Amino acid sequence: MRRSVKVVISCHVEFGYAANSVVFDRQERKGALEGLECCIRIAKEFDARVSLMIMPEVVETIKGLDLGDNGIGLHIHPEDSHLRKRSLGGFRALRDYDFLEQKAMISAGKEIIDEIVGVTPKSFVAGKWSVDNNTVRALVELGFSHDCSPCPGFASVNCDWRKLPRMCMPYKVSHLDYQSSGTMNLVMVPVSKEIIGGVISPENRIGLAFLKAAFQEYYDSGCPVVHIALHSPSMTSRHYRKLFNKLLKHISKHNVTFCLAEDIETAESRVPPRARLLPYIRNLDAEALSYLAGNAFRRLVQRRYRWSKGEMSFRPIMTPQDTTIVQDIQDSYIHRSWRSFIAKKVQARSRGAPVLDAGCGTCEHAKSAALA
Ligand SMILES: [Zn+2]
Repeated sequence: MRRSVKVVISCHVEFGYAANSVVFDRQERKGALEGLECCIRIAKEFDARVSLMIMPEVVETIKGLDLGDNGIGLHIHPEDSHLRKRSLGGFRALRDYDFLEQKAMISAGKEIIDEIVGVTPKSFVAGKWSVDNNTVRALVELGFSHDCSPCPGFASVNCDWRKLPRMCMPYKVSHLDYQSSGTMNLVMVPVSKEIIGGVISPENRIGLAFLKAAFQEYYDSGCPVVHIALHSPSMTSRHYRKLFNKLLKHISKHNVTFCLAEDIETAESRVPPRARLLPYIRNLDAEALSYLAGNAFRRLVQRRYRWSKGEMSFRPIMTPQDTTIVQDIQDSYIHRSWRSFIAKKVQARSRGAPVLDAGCGTCEHAKSAALA
């Protein structure tokens, strides 16, 4: 019989809320309160423990909450108000600070959690996945054992994880390069990514069927670890809670053990077998297709935009405002027209008869067809 797959769920606990997407907003405390409670409650239904990566600025807000036997880790964004009060941090990404500045921020965060939550954090996640060689050195010197920040293949102005293969298993980090295996006493636990590069997370817009397929890909490939990551503010939305619940329900039907980041040892092989397309093809539904079409469109626009500016650098050159415009176009023209197309098809086929929900979004479209 095959060995059970370890499933780690890391939840970044921060302020904010969720509407159509996750919004990080310091004024909205419910992301850390209601969001955290819902995350713990849903995980508990499946006997899963969550690695709660807590930002220092939320500790007073969550003080009275029952965190159960879930893991306590540290989540650092340099703009954290508690760090700023101690004249630490600022508005750059973590890796943009030197070794001593990073160490001071991580040390202060550790102290705050220790003092108020009563647990010394051993695991860590950097805000914006922002890590460099100084970060891992600081973590080792401060006694951390696990870092859940690696985001395979992803690069932005704040981080660079392009050396890691998409399906990357945990590794002991090298002091020469945070993206390589070495002998330092820190286990890197990369987040798991689906085939088009999104994180396996209820926040992924690709939809449930595709996320299930992504889990299946890891499971069928014999990967020893799957790492799901989410942000507590997302759990203030019914949509994300439902997705999280359904994803865990699907995962728990397999031979898996839900465990904390601290329970992860380095896997024997860092690079697991090659990607498998079949689970994705089997699970493609309207939601995934509309997302893929939208994504292809967005990339096309971005590329044209770069050409028009005569730039070919890898860094994203679109401003947040441009991204919102593209998102709007995508939502209004691509998703909407695709959905109404599907709705018409279902309506035509069903002729008023009840439509069986085959778990691929048909039910949703049948409902919208009935209303049309
Ligand atoms: Zn964060």
